[in-house]
Amino acid sequence: MKWWQLALAAGAAAGLLTAQPVFAADSQVIRNEWQDEHLGPGVARWVDEDGNVWDQPGVRPDMADAAGGNGTEADENGTAEAGGGGTQENTADGVPTGDGVPSGDGASQPAAEDAAQETERIIDPSKPMVALTFDDGPYGPVGNRILDCLAQYNGRATFYVVGERVPAEAAEMQRIVAEGHEIGNHTYSHKYLNKLNTAQIRQEIDRCADTVQSVCGVRPATVRLPGGNKNATVLAAVQEPIVLWNVDTLDWKTRNAQQTVSAVLDHVQDGDIILMHELYQASGDAALQIIPELTNRGYQLVTVSEMAQYRRGGLQNGQIYYSMKPQ
Ligand code: ZN
Repeated sequence: MKWWQLALAAGAAAGLLTAQPVFAADSQVIRNEWQDEHLGPGVARWVDEDGNVWDQPGVRPDMADAAGGNGTEADENGTAEAGGGGTQENTADGVPTGDGVPSGDGASQPAAEDAAQETERIIDPSKPMVALTFDDGPYGPVGNRILDCLAQYNGRATFYVVGERVPAEAAEMQRIVAEGHEIGNHTYSHKYLNKLNTAQIRQEIDRCADTVQSVCGVRPATVRLPGGNKNATVLAAVQEPIVLWNVDTLDWKTRNAQQTVSAVLDHVQDGDIILMHELYQASGDAALQIIPELTNRGYQLVTVSEMAQYRRGGLQNGQIYYSMKPQ
């Protein structure tokens, strides 16, 4: 049992799970997000879609069940559903400012290449390609729907996972790898790295990578910064290629499949890196429309490492990628 399961069980036993809604200082509706409450370096609390605050990140319904059953009404109403999404993934540092200009043969993901061989699949660099990326999982109830659809259309995607959620979703993680998709590093506990020191940053990155490797045998080739937040310390500490995005669907905010679909299909261009989140059924619903339509329009659905390989000759350490337009 993990610390958060213990905490959850203890909390349930003590009747402490009645979460208290909080409101932002400006009285705007609380968004599902990590909220820094100045509890210390990188310490954040989780605010779910109903505005409830939790000490643990993304406690899912299945975890709540495992932790003890007699949940409060809040539990049963799904406040325990994993939330995610860098709230600031659409602001400030999240605004794309350029395109990576990598060169050379950088990191790759052998497992993805191996698995890709299992299915006959040819990527034509002269044809348009898009990298769909799903953050904050793994979360099987949504992830497996996305994987089913990708399998149907022979597409690939990249899943930026939060390390501490990986062991509980080992089956999905192994499926992701087996079916030729890419696992990305979204840190161990989704702390904003710009609030941590160098050692803490490395621990967040390395612990995620170690966990992923232990569960599914591959080491993530790229890092996605929670919230897209970075500063000089972060950039110095993260040697791995950093992959951000140039199309932000805001799916975590709208929780509306049709808006998410429009955010992609109304703007998509060759070389885009599209940000979605694995935690929401609405995002899964959107993916089930986006994947067939992009395929229908002639887009090749590739992983970020594939896109880097075909568009940039590979990934380069220390580089930040927002998109990979044809050059
Ligand atoms: Zn995130």
